[in-house]
Amino acid sequence: MSTPVAPLSTWARNVSPSPTLAVDTKAKALLAAGGDVCSFAAGEPDFDTPEHIKEACIVALKSGKTKYAPTPGIEPLRQAIVDRYDAEYGLKATIGQVIVSPGGKFNCYLGVVATCSPGDEVIVPAPFWVSYPEMVKLAGAVPKLVLADDRTGFKLTPAQLEAAITPKTKLLILNSPSNPTGAVYTRAELEALVSVAVKHNLYILSDEMYEHLVYDGVKPTCVATLSPEAAARTITVAGFSKTYAMTGWRIGTTLAPLPIAKAISELQSQMSSNVTTFAQYGALAALKEKEKTAAAVKIMLAAFDRRRKSLHAQLNKIPGVKCLLAEGAFYLFPNISSFGLKDVDFCNRLLDEEKVAAVPGSAFGAEGYLRLSYATSDEIIAKGVSRLAKFCAGLQG
Ligand SMILES: *Cc1c(COP(=O)(O)O)cnc(C)c1O
Repeated sequence: MSTPVAPLSTWARNVSPSPTLAVDTKAKALLAAGGDVCSFAAGEPDFDTPEHIKEACIVALKSGKTKYAPTPGIEPLRQAIVDRYDAEYGLKATIGQVIVSPGGKFNCYLGVVATCSPGDEVIVPAPFWVSYPEMVKLAGAVPKLVLADDRTGFKLTPAQLEAAITPKTKLLILNSPSNPTGAVYTRAELEALVSVAVKHNLYILSDEMYEHLVYDGVKPTCVATLSPEAAARTITVAGFSKTYAMTGWRIGTTLAPLPIAKAISELQSQMSSNVTTFAQYGALAALKEKEKTAAAVKIMLAAFDRRRKSLHAQLNKIPGVKCLLAEGAFYLFPNISSFGLKDVDFCNRLLDEEKVAAVPGSAFGAEGYLRLSYATSDEIIAKGVSRLAKFCAGLQG
């Protein structure tokens, strides 16, 4: 007999576990049991961290960089982050505006907590990265989901944004290039959204985690560079996980106006303190040893681009499947609504019957789609798509 205890907190009872991690875990368990699974569920590069980055971390570890460091990050890393924003976007910032946190996910969460109070509303365009609504709820704030489907290229329009704003709206979350759709907003599209946000005095959390994973000559836009008004209200989150295949290192970055950066640093000082000290030296090498890093990123990017095009072409050959060619990240988001099956049922049957793992669009707030990650081998992609085609033909038959 168990001892009766008090209920857990509102936060603990209301949080939903990550559905993307759940599918990935199920696929990995089937694989481990010897199953012949083709997984499109991964949310991380299938490459290893470049050697020179690992080496710098090992050197730092061996030379005793094993103590507490300043909460917002070691100085040389913060300076390197300032320098790279200047070099890439002409953005002038100071070291005080930069905070290094234990993963971009935590940078996002701290951005929400620093700006939102209980009852505030946060506009989250859907399809959304699964963690945004949960983070907003954990801050006591209210996520306002606004669906931007494939008819607008998965991009929120200024009219949709305007219609979703109320006197309680405090924050707009943007994520370009997007997880889960791969969509990349143009500079003009972002300017239009930012001007609505400025008019209503909203903060903007711009999650630019995939800024370097763009194709077809597309240039990413750093929202904070759009205007002085944008710079004054935008919290820019980026990181090392996706660009440099460093997901397990847990290092993300925030660039924010000084008062927000100060608040975030103080919050972090009470929640997690600094990112693992020697890991920060690996991140520093990623930014400092520019030629080696660029060479490694080029190889990964070329592989992602090749797989993106091949997956896109193969998907659109399947009768009933409609897929836009995304310009960024490593995901495609095909529309499977013509099959008349809920996407969750579609994914469950696809995994059970054909051993193909995909994440249902509804996990990202968009029913009727699949998220397919092409951060996997060409062989898995070819095999997985032909199984998907067979599955779809069976549904139509
Ligand atoms: C992966 C990801 C992050 C955070 O990654 P970390 O591993 O926590 O640095 C943030 N936003 C989006 C959209 C992502 O896909």
